[in-house]
Amino acid sequence: MVLTDPILPRQRSLTFLDSKLTTTQAPVSAVTSRVNLLDFDEAGLRAFFESIGEKPFRAQQVLKWVFHHAETDIGAMTDLGIALREQLKSIAEIKLPEILREQRSIDGTVKWLIGFHGGNAVETVYIPEPKRGTLCVSSQVGCALNCSFCSTGAQGFARNLTCSEIIGQVWLAAQALGHERNGERRITNVVMMGMGEPLLNFDAVMPAMSLMRNDLGFGFAAKRVTLSTAGLIPGINRLRDTLDVALAVSLHAPVDDVRTQLVPLNRKYPIADLMQACSDYVSEKHKRSVTFEYTLIDGVNDHPEHAHKLVKLLRRLPSKLNLIPFNPFPGTKYRCSSQDRIKEFQEIVMRGGLIATVRKTRGEDIDAACGQLVGKVMDRTKRSERIKLQMAEIAS
Ligand code: SF4
Repeated sequence: MVLTDPILPRQRSLTFLDSKLTTTQAPVSAVTSRVNLLDFDEAGLRAFFESIGEKPFRAQQVLKWVFHHAETDIGAMTDLGIALREQLKSIAEIKLPEILREQRSIDGTVKWLIGFHGGNAVETVYIPEPKRGTLCVSSQVGCALNCSFCSTGAQGFARNLTCSEIIGQVWLAAQALGHERNGERRITNVVMMGMGEPLLNFDAVMPAMSLMRNDLGFGFAAKRVTLSTAGLIPGINRLRDTLDVALAVSLHAPVDDVRTQLVPLNRKYPIADLMQACSDYVSEKHKRSVTFEYTLIDGVNDHPEHAHKLVKLLRRLPSKLNLIPFNPFPGTKYRCSSQDRIKEFQEIVMRGGLIATVRKTRGEDIDAACGQLVGKVMDRTKRSERIKLQMAEIAS
């Protein structure tokens, strides 16, 4: 079959995205220049097959092989026909990132260092609990947003991950945990809460999350796939119109001056505007609530007055509050709040009517706790320029 359409060098992604997203430069393997089929969601893959004169349903066959049968060898996909397999092998590939290291905590938490071409790597963490297993996935190598309490932010920014590198983390973790198609699921929830700000990598994160949701992919329900953002309002609005997933927001303070100190992005998108975007998000998704993450830092945002202000801020919004004891990392100026302070804070917000849980620290012995993730980040940040560029992209 002859390649008839110039779709290969471009990504045709989610059909329900706006036209700007469908013309994103395609992820093509740096080494082979063959297109990586894992960089497409179902809609993108259907378009790819049409572009080479094939029936779009080939997309379903390929996705089933990859996600249901864990088969990534195109030559072994027997229902594709020999000629098509040969053609595909010459123009395409199914390329996953690579597990470089695995560490297992005494509490069952597993952390993988996952490597990508070019020498970068991120950490992906699996947290088992009695009734669920959560996988924390990264969207960028490093992060440009520079939140002052975050180990990732301190490492700088290297690059966005591609769709295949994001969905590849889930695929590799599922295989490493012994995922069986009709067996009990080890991974029940995925949170885009690892390295990076997912909404600054919208074009790759959306098809990857679409594959998490799609029955031909991992088939997770909407409430089991969560995107966590530092509060990028234009991105929240686009997400609302794009894909049905749960939203988490890193809030960390109820007042602008404290929040700006912790999350510099707050300067551009202050709390009042962020609350409006969250309110619009839940009203669109009917009854869905927003999860707010609040890292408790000694003497910074853990005063009873902060708790009272938080109640005022959140009480009218369908929401849950996740209180996270700060996990110190080398070089940080912050300390974790005392147990008494955390308890007092939780009691105040709960008395005020909020649903609030204190997140248990997991995987401490392998540095897998929240905010401790590192990787191999070749920092290419000219931080302010990078942020400006990414902001302009998401806002345009
Ligand atoms: S908290 Fe999230 S958005 Fe902020 S620097 Fe860390 S990874 Fe980036």
